[in-house]
Amino acid sequence: MADKIQMKTPLVEMDGDEMTRIIWKMIKDILIYPYVDLKSEYYDLGLEYRDQTNDQVTVDSAKATLKYGVAVKCATITPNAARVEEYNLKEMWKSPNGTIRAILDGTVFRTPIIVKGITPFIPTWTKPITIARHAYGDIYKNTEMQVKKGSKCELVCTDESGNETRSLIYDFADSDGIIQGVHNKDASIASFARSCFNFALDTKQDVWFATKDTISKKYDHRFKDIFAEVFEAEYKEKFEKAGIEYFYTLIDDAVARVVRSNGGYIWACKNYDGDVMSDMVATAYGSLAMMTSVLVSPDGVYEYEAAHGTVQRHYYKHLKGEKTSTNSVATLFAWTGALRKRGELDNTPDLCDFADKLEKATIKTIEDGVMTGDLASLSTIENKRTVDTETFLVEINNRLKEMM
Ligand code: NAP
Ligand code: MG
Repeated sequence: MADKIQMKTPLVEMDGDEMTRIIWKMIKDILIYPYVDLKSEYYDLGLEYRDQTNDQVTVDSAKATLKYGVAVKCATITPNAARVEEYNLKEMWKSPNGTIRAILDGTVFRTPIIVKGITPFIPTWTKPITIARHAYGDIYKNTEMQVKKGSKCELVCTDESGNETRSLIYDFADSDGIIQGVHNKDASIASFARSCFNFALDTKQDVWFATKDTISKKYDHRFKDIFAEVFEAEYKEKFEKAGIEYFYTLIDDAVARVVRSNGGYIWACKNYDGDVMSDMVATAYGSLAMMTSVLVSPDGVYEYEAAHGTVQRHYYKHLKGEKTSTNSVATLFAWTGALRKRGELDNTPDLCDFADKLEKATIKTIEDGVMTGDLASLSTIENKRTVDTETFLVEINNRLKEMM
């Protein structure tokens, strides 16, 4: 087709697992290939190929992302003991997202997609809450041990000159136990702070940040101090001009305030808080499948994905030949986010325009009352119709065609 939208530069395409892998192909076949002459560098992050390549493919895909600047990723299995058996894995490979985030050293921003007819479980949340998750370190890069009764466990730090500093973790005199070592880097925390403050200026929203600095007087307190220093030195005046604020509090106070708020701000979270709170916030807004997610590195590299997993339960139904009604919105918005960003960076407005229209067609489909089962159970729209996975995408395409 001569009039397909052209791309100047490829984007990095990271394929994934289970039901989202099925959806991935449907999205491309039904909604992208007919309109865009897609240029992508393809990496298969499906668990089988990760295992075959000893997980090298994950590292390669992250490096390609650094090179091209934009990636779109499908949900992937993070193996546990059951998966090692199911896929006969050589090893319990690490979370691909963890590996990619460690290489890009970025910040993940998650924002719910709001549609008419779906009221958040917290009805006062009339504006989206964007969660910014620090995507480096803490328990995602930890070292753990199970220790035997009678062990004495210490933290040992050896400096450049070979001097040792020791600190007792615990003397396991009377019981077996567990220990873990975690770390973070000042530079990563500072770039996390900058990403959040930059994103806040872009979107004209306040930034909230919280840790447990009263209990963790060195580790968490360092996060608090670095945020304050970066804000004071680089952002205070810009924030005043933009009429937005930076607000710090304790994590438990933050949770209480978030529940009472109207939304409309960026909630900066440490890695684990962001992992947990993003699922809570997504569920409260309606469905995990309506949560967009983008990893932004300090040097402006973008990786788009859905916030949810591979929807394993639906996949097993699909394998049995049953129709599923799996929501593809977040995966679809990962694609539109990546295509729009590619268009912005390459100065190809056609591509940005296509991404806008595809998003509009998606929202229109749901607001017209055509939706997947997860949304149908939440939507207050009258005469709604629950459709299967593929029909939903075909319905979006029917509306997209009219807009093109
Ligand atoms: P999940 O895939 O997010 O699904 C959990 C449940 O949420 C589903 O069973 C389904 O509920 C509902 N759901 C999630 N996404 C949906 C969608 N698009 N449409 C409709 N319903 C949806 O989480 P999981 O089952 O705990 O994890 C499965 C695998 O995903 C795991 O191997 C995990 O490692 C991986 N994972 C990957 C990522 C990532 O790559 N970013 C993130 C999280 C998890 P019902 O069954 O009630 O319909
Ligand atoms: Mg999570």
